[in-house]
Amino acid sequence: RFKPVLNLLFMLLSKFFEKLVKTMSVTIPVNVDTPYDVVIGRNLSKEILQQVLRENTTKLLIVCAPHVSNYALECASQLEGLGYEVSTQILPDGEESKTIEVMASLWDCAGRVRLGRADAVIAIGGGASTDVGGFLAASWLRGIDFIAVPTTLLGMVDASVGGKTGINTPVGKNLVGAFHSPRRVVVDLDRLETLNHDDYRAGLGEVVKCGFISDPAILSIVEANPEPIYDPRSEEIAELIERSIAVKARVVSADLHENGPREFLNYGHTLAHAIEKIENFHYRHGEAVAIGCVFAAHLAQRRGMLSEAEVQRHIEDFSALGLPTFYEGASIDALLEVMLSDKKVRAGVLRFVLLDGVNHPVTVKVNPQEVIDCALSMGMRQ
Ligand code: NAD
Repeated sequence: RFKPVLNLLFMLLSKFFEKLVKTMSVTIPVNVDTPYDVVIGRNLSKEILQQVLRENTTKLLIVCAPHVSNYALECASQLEGLGYEVSTQILPDGEESKTIEVMASLWDCAGRVRLGRADAVIAIGGGASTDVGGFLAASWLRGIDFIAVPTTLLGMVDASVGGKTGINTPVGKNLVGAFHSPRRVVVDLDRLETLNHDDYRAGLGEVVKCGFISDPAILSIVEANPEPIYDPRSEEIAELIERSIAVKARVVSADLHENGPREFLNYGHTLAHAIEKIENFHYRHGEAVAIGCVFAAHLAQRRGMLSEAEVQRHIEDFSALGLPTFYEGASIDALLEVMLSDKKVRAGVLRFVLLDGVNHPVTVKVNPQEVIDCALSMGMRQ
């Protein structure tokens, strides 16, 4: 007699727990001068944004990437429902948004809506959108509050955490900017469901990099079974994202302004930046980083810092996720020229982050001839 009632009760309870699990979130603290949290979860409520706004905040300026404008408008209407005056600006896509012209139009908009000192900017989108939104917040009235809502994998694990904001100039990428920590970073994993396959895969390059510099559990997850990692709803991708953000949060907490250990996050980046520049930024960052890490592993092996098996591990782990491990475009001479013209290179001395054993990054000076010899031994052309 009680069976239908029990069945109904069971069904309601399982729905409740399903919702509870879905909305459960993980919080990772970033301990910089003004500490903030990265909140990671699924189906996160918009109150997560409201919680960090000041009591006297009245206006919000949302800037968003075009592909997530529906989600941004949904956030805007919920925040309006909570009593805020919200303006939403849809940015040009990707790098097209990181220009002085776009910044000038955003400053105009902030002036028109009279965004005040107690008000805030919310950026929703990939790394380009959070870089622009963060710089708008950093520069408006000499700095107002900022909340980052990254919606690409790269934005979640890298660009939105650490407080670097900025735009490009015709001379180069990210040349104008400021350090401006957000009040919170909100990572809603559900956003990944609409991300295209190539951007998703490229974001995994930074994830595997974090595994090699600091967290072996990341490598174990990739090595155990890469298949579920492609599913944005899987437990595996959630754990990889949490672990990668924890790596970045730890490093940034120890060194916000990049005077010391923050440099280790640049593992694979010396060659990656040269590839991106030579390819006119049509090469995805995470793919270039995968190639750069494998190159750095070969350099480390030549110096006796990594074994052949550890170099092979680099190749297998990046390849398992469909990432490239070898660059066949320009010659090593052309790449070297770009590396030597980088703004961080002084007196013709290149600096590479290498691993002295997996999870032991060190920064070393490398002679250009050593780079050429390594590249030629790998089969790159001169
Ligand atoms: P991106 O911001 O250009 O986004 C890639 C594409 O994905 C864009 O077309 C965007 O509109 C779209 N998109 C965003 N979210 C989406 C979603 N949920 N569904 C569907 N499409 C979506 O690229 P990115 O790879 O996220 O970030 C690269 C940028 O980040 C570069 O400008 C780089 O300089 C910057 N960056 C900054 C830092 C930092 O510390 N500030 C670190 C790394 C990279």
